[in-house]
Amino acid sequence: MELVSKTIKKHNFFAGPAILPASVLEAAKEAVKDFSGMGLSILEISHRSKEFVAVMDEAFNSTRELLNLSDDYEVLFLTGGASSQFFMSAMNLLPQDGKVGYVNTGTWSTKAIKEAKQFGTVEEIASSKDKNFSYIPKGYNIDEKLAYLHLTSNNTISGTQMHEWPDTKVPFVCDMSSDIFSRPLDIDRYGMIYAGAQKNLGPAGTTLVIIRKDMLGKVKRQIPTMLDYNTHISKASSFNTPPVYPIYVCMLTMRWLKANGGVAGMEVKNKEKAAILYNEIDRNSLFKGAAATEDRSLMNVTFVMNNTDLEDSFMTACTEAGCLGVKGHRSVGGFRASIYNAMPKESVQVLVDVMKDFESKKG
Ligand SMILES: *Cc1c(COP(=O)(O)O)cnc(C)c1O
Repeated sequence: MELVSKTIKKHNFFAGPAILPASVLEAAKEAVKDFSGMGLSILEISHRSKEFVAVMDEAFNSTRELLNLSDDYEVLFLTGGASSQFFMSAMNLLPQDGKVGYVNTGTWSTKAIKEAKQFGTVEEIASSKDKNFSYIPKGYNIDEKLAYLHLTSNNTISGTQMHEWPDTKVPFVCDMSSDIFSRPLDIDRYGMIYAGAQKNLGPAGTTLVIIRKDMLGKVKRQIPTMLDYNTHISKASSFNTPPVYPIYVCMLTMRWLKANGGVAGMEVKNKEKAAILYNEIDRNSLFKGAAATEDRSLMNVTFVMNNTDLEDSFMTACTEAGCLGVKGHRSVGGFRASIYNAMPKESVQVLVDVMKDFESKKG
């Protein structure tokens, strides 16, 4: 398996935009020079050319294949980031006289709730704000009359991830921006999934949206053409010019995913990588995990130092070892190592070695 780039020597732990497979970057570079033997760059061709339509088709088909989507689901590549889905999902799916439930597990959920409230009745049915979002709420009651239940599967900032799902027949609308394609899903439970590409799929600039058809057609409000999912469904995401290059790179990543065991293969590797890092956090006397143990994210590993005075010098040690992007989000402090699908195990090991070495010097 080709994972570690021979030219890029740094270890990329940034949270987003984030690491992409080396082979994807190589192919993406080629396409900027000469795309599909056209003698033109992918940056300067029509989105209606047969060469690019083939890219869109492959991106749609690969999404379907990777997540095992039936014809009940539509796949879209939109713009505006996951942040636009905070309001678009409610605008399209929350009936004026209906009610939806949101589980508040962090900064992103909080923003999603704020936007949804513009369109109807939003119940915040559970929250982990009381402990700075360091855990995933469980065991809350769900009114079966909710039009949907909004979840954030992975909380990029606090480093928590849902490992079990609430027991309900209410369809989930799920922000999977930072763990899309990282593990198999029980897809039937989802009415909608959305993910900004720049965490675990591709470059910034496109957002993957998956919608089950029965979720649509339930609202009566006027929706501007560009914000109506039906517009983009009817035109296969090419109602207007789609983000050609980001979609191309996502398509390449999905090709890589399929060649590397799909989402089941990713899950095995992601568990292995996360275990290497969490084991060291738990073993090392200088560090402790920031998230509740049972809710730890396999994608964003957050940890802090018992002695915060040592944080700056640990950051320096990371940088010197070529481990970049390890600084924690300001709302959590400490450190965050994002170890998405494309992160090689070898890079995780380098970070662990830095932690061990630091302990032997300062511990
Ligand atoms: C990054 C992130 C977002 C915001 O994505 P944008 O594409 O920048 O709008 C939303 N939700 C989650 C879980 C994220 O990690």
